[in-house]
This record gives sequence, C-alpha cells and structure tokens, in this order.
Amino acid sequence: MTITLKRKFRRVRLGSRKFVRFESRKFDDTFIDKHGVRAVWEKSERCNCYTDSGQPDYNCGRCGGFGWVYYDARIIPMLVTGISLTKQLREIGEFVPGYASGTVAADYKVGQHDRFTLTERSQITVDPAKRAASGNMDAIRYPGAAIMGVLAVRDHTGEYVQDGRQSEGQQPDYYTDGNVLTWIPAGRQPAHGNRFSIRFQHRPIFVVVDPPRSRGDGSELFPWALSLRRLEYMRSAAEIDISGGTPTGILLGGG
Ligand SMILES: [Zn+2]
Repeated sequence: MTITLKRKFRRVRLGSRKFVRFESRKFDDTFIDKHGVRAVWEKSERCNCYTDSGQPDYNCGRCGGFGWVYYDARIIPMLVTGISLTKQLREIGEFVPGYASGTVAADYKVGQHDRFTLTERSQITVDPAKRAASGNMDAIRYPGAAIMGVLAVRDHTGEYVQDGRQSEGQQPDYYTDGNVLTWIPAGRQPAHGNRFSIRFQHRPIFVVVDPPRSRGDGSELFPWALSLRRLEYMRSAAEIDISGGTPTGILLGGG
C-alpha cells in the first residue's frame, strides 16, 4: 500500500544525525481511521486478589479469576491484522490461542494487559457444554467472551426452546443472561452431567500481551504496535463451576 504524504511534514530523528520527514497526523487520523475497525479500548489494572505467589483468586468476584480489571472504556480506530478464524479449532472442544497484531495512533497510550473489543466483528462459537451436577444453571465456558446472544441449545434429543422464541402455547426451556443459561423447571432440560451444545454469537476480545512499542523511534509521532491475543483462550474453560448456583465466570458482555 502507498501512504501519500502531502502536508504537515515533521522532522523525526532516526539516529544521531539522520532525520526523516513524517506526517504523523495524516497517518494516524486518516490511514488508521480509514482502514481500521472501531474497537473499545479499556485500560487494565491488576486486581487486588493477587497473592504474593502471583496467582489470582479463580473465584474472585471482581475480576472473575482473570487477575485484571478494566476501566476508562473508549472507542478508538485500530488496525488489526493476522486474525485467523479458521484455525481456532484444533479438535472438538480444544481451542488454540488466537494471535493478532494491532496498530493505534500515537495519541492512545495503550498499556500491556489493556483490552480491546472489536465492535464491528462477531463470530459464532459452539460450546460443547456439560450440564452441571446440580441446580438449574449452566454457563458458557468462555468467561472472556462478549456474548451477543445464544442462538441455539441442542443435544441428541433435539433443540431446546429459548424463552422469548417459543411459539404460541409452547413451554420455553431456558433463558440466558450474559454467559449464564438458566433452565426453567417446567420445561425440558438435559439430565445433570449430560453433554449438550450452546451455539452463541460474540464479539472478539483481544488483550495486549507484550509492552506496546512505537513503530518509529518513540518520539510520540509514530503509531503504536500492539501484540494481541484473544482473551477467550487465555483461561481454561473448565474453571467455571456453576453447580453451586452462583456463576464464578465474569460477565463481560456489556463491554
Ligand atoms: Zn480478582
């Protein structure tokens, strides 16, 4: 691609005596804005549940066991490259990490562990779920997923009926709130401990896994290069236990 530089050139030091003319504002505001996506950027803060050994409390109600909490959400343009949606599934139920790289304008002082939710993209994931040992609740096992909605819940007996989508006179089987699925006692449901599938739509969420680096010489004129990893794959899905009736997975659907 060609980046046309016309006005507002600035001299940027590239070493002790070399300079290059670089129109940073045009690159930042026009190029990223034109070719990027809208992303919700949230700054990170380490949760206070961390122990001296460096491990978060997996049952922490504040961070959901991630060890990080987020604040100061704002929508900014970001270039994202290297997303592979086709190689995420290694085998049924086994996810491999999804990596990408991002670029944001120099004005945005992104830090390591900050979080980005891509507001203009979504994908469908099928969670091979297992009915809890007791109680009426189950959870989609991807605590980082920004869930937009549950599309279908099925097992070998067929499809269960979501509340609000039943036909006239039909008894709904379940309703959903974020990543929690609640079975309605009057309806059908899989037996405790049985397998079933939850098909849901969600936004991709990335976290910054390395300290951001300037694409130039760090003179505050160049955009930032970000190493990104999909948040959904950074924690074992098996750590959500909802059998006690209280979900321990954090609900991030609200962004
Ligand atoms: Zn915590």
